[in-house]
Amino acid sequence: MNSAPLNSKELKAQAHRLGFVACGLAPAEPVQQWYARRFRQWLQLGYQADMQYMQNHVEMRLQPTLLHPGVRSIISLALNYMPSRQQPGISLYAQGRDYHDVMRERLRQLMAEAGLQGRCFVDTAPVLERYWAWRCGIGQFCRNGLIAVPGYGPTVFLGEIFVEQESDAYDQPLAPPPHDFAGWQSLCPALTPQGLDARLCISYQTIENRGELPQDLHLHRTFYGCDRCLRACPQFGESQPTQDEAFQPSPQLLGMQENDWRTLTPEQYKALFKDSAVKRAKYQGLVRNIQNWKP
Ligand code: SF4
Repeated sequence: MNSAPLNSKELKAQAHRLGFVACGLAPAEPVQQWYARRFRQWLQLGYQADMQYMQNHVEMRLQPTLLHPGVRSIISLALNYMPSRQQPGISLYAQGRDYHDVMRERLRQLMAEAGLQGRCFVDTAPVLERYWAWRCGIGQFCRNGLIAVPGYGPTVFLGEIFVEQESDAYDQPLAPPPHDFAGWQSLCPALTPQGLDARLCISYQTIENRGELPQDLHLHRTFYGCDRCLRACPQFGESQPTQDEAFQPSPQLLGMQENDWRTLTPEQYKALFKDSAVKRAKYQGLVRNIQNWKP
């Protein structure tokens, strides 16, 4: 194993060249007590709804060495996904290609170019990605629990690399954002002082819920995801369109009108969302959402 410490400055320059808008490093220490307590409380309250996987591997989420023995440093990275055009009804993050694929490709590229030894993660392993983004100093927590990167707002995807090398320098968390989110609790019942209650969240209901939608749920103008609290967040003002083609909607998606959605066939669904995160809702789930949609 290469035991030379990572050159953090060079690594950040390489990350920047690959299109990452933020890159930070932290020692692979256990998650801090305040956040661990908050996470356990969130689970106890049942705010994870049916996302059973959040209850699995709790200790592994809180202790990085249990997930990857030998990890010494954690690198948190962000990609700007703010599309310059949007198909209404679909959340901003899901307009382009599936971020899991795009982020994984970029993280692997960075690992190869920088000679990093370890593993990379994109929202598919027991990793508290928002905590690490905060701890690595690349962003600040918003009231809705998302991370906002200064200069790019909360419209960013996060990825992590667990590396077996130490770094020549580590980053510190950023100070809290200067503007609070006035009226955040009255914006949506899912936003609570203890965190986001997924059971009441349109995003969870339209993407993760495989059953019926709750009768009293109002989808507003969306049928996949929800951007209301994202757009209401003061840091959303810092979001700026990405140059990354991967996150732009296809002409076919942009061309869809309300009536096209109401008559969507499985074949059209497959063609439109072949490489998209929208696949997660499956055809039946998307049709169920569209039936409840009031544009
Ligand atoms: S995403 Fe929408 S439903 Fe979920 S917490 Fe934010 S505003 Fe509420």
